[in-house]
Amino acid sequence: KYEGKKIKVALVGLGRYAEYMASQMKDCQYCEVAGLVSGSTEKLESWGKEYNVPTKNRYNYENFDKIKDNPDIDLVYIILPNAMHKDYAIRAAKAKKHVLVEKPMAVNAADCLEMIKVCKENNVQLAMGYRLHFEPYNMEMMRLGQKEVFGKVRVVEASLGYFAGQKGEWRLSKKLAGGGPLMNLGVYCVQAGRYITGEEPISVTAQFGPVLRKELFTEVEESITWQLEFPSGAVCTSTSTLAAGIDRLYASAENGRFELSPAISYGPFKGRTHEKEMDFPQINQQAAQMDAISKIILENKPMPDHISGLEGWKDMKVLDAIYKAAETGQKVRI
Ligand code: NDP
Repeated sequence: KYEGKKIKVALVGLGRYAEYMASQMKDCQYCEVAGLVSGSTEKLESWGKEYNVPTKNRYNYENFDKIKDNPDIDLVYIILPNAMHKDYAIRAAKAKKHVLVEKPMAVNAADCLEMIKVCKENNVQLAMGYRLHFEPYNMEMMRLGQKEVFGKVRVVEASLGYFAGQKGEWRLSKKLAGGGPLMNLGVYCVQAGRYITGEEPISVTAQFGPVLRKELFTEVEESITWQLEFPSGAVCTSTSTLAAGIDRLYASAENGRFELSPAISYGPFKGRTHEKEMDFPQINQQAAQMDAISKIILENKPMPDHISGLEGWKDMKVLDAIYKAAETGQKVRI
């Protein structure tokens, strides 16, 4: 159908997730790793060999804008620390390349709007790396909630945490991460609250948790808990933390319940309704995400809202409000 055409992807920032993504993309039908952008000449060399990326498709952060003149790159995938997403998305769009951004989209909602605007002005697609939109267990949670299979959803609990944190890592830097676990993990919980109810939250209350490792968490929170209210009266309660492991989604509707645990990390996913265990294939979600986005670009179709920059902006508006609520101790309207 696409005459063997594949979307040529340049990965920006060759860190841990880029490494995982690149290995998973070996299963893709509609795209391939074709470009590399890194601050490390060693990585450019070793990744270049592994992924068969010629020298002319390898860039550093200084000469990255030259990608404009490279017809062998269609899509730029930004997998950098959060606070760098905005600049690189804008630079990629100005180079007339389609843009894919890892979560969280940026570090505040205003930056997301700017990214959306520049992509529009340059007539390029803007997609979010929201892999769970292609993952069967999470898609079932969306279906059960949004289609009101067990009636209207009343209560959601969505939490994600890991015991993690090392001195010097960018996730503990306010400047590079924009915040703590709310930015990196909480964004999934906000997403889940929104995709299970199919609604946009109208207000939030939030509380920072205690800081247990004072030497590490000098700039960003170690834990945060919040409560979102939705127009229907549904409530979503969440914790994101680097002080404990937790990975679950739970929804209670008028006539039944459904849940996943593990829910958000790379699986294997497990889930059940109040009636039975869920039984879906464990898929390569990274490859599924990349193929789906690439097909949309190949077909020249608009990016569907739920994986577009618009979706990233909607989540970021909620994250901004959660921080405001935790800082002020007040309920914040969204
Ligand atoms: P890493 O720290 O492993 O990698 C980040 C890379 O960014 C570095 O290796 C480096 O690449 C580059 N970089 C450029 N400037 C800096 C800087 N000042 N400090 C640190 N790194 C820098 O992070 P992750 O791969 O875990 O995360 C990257 C992004 O991906 C984040 O936005 C994160 O939220 C997202 N992510 C998404 C996941 C998902 O499941 N969707 C899972 C994990 C992360 P180089 O040496 O090549 O220049």
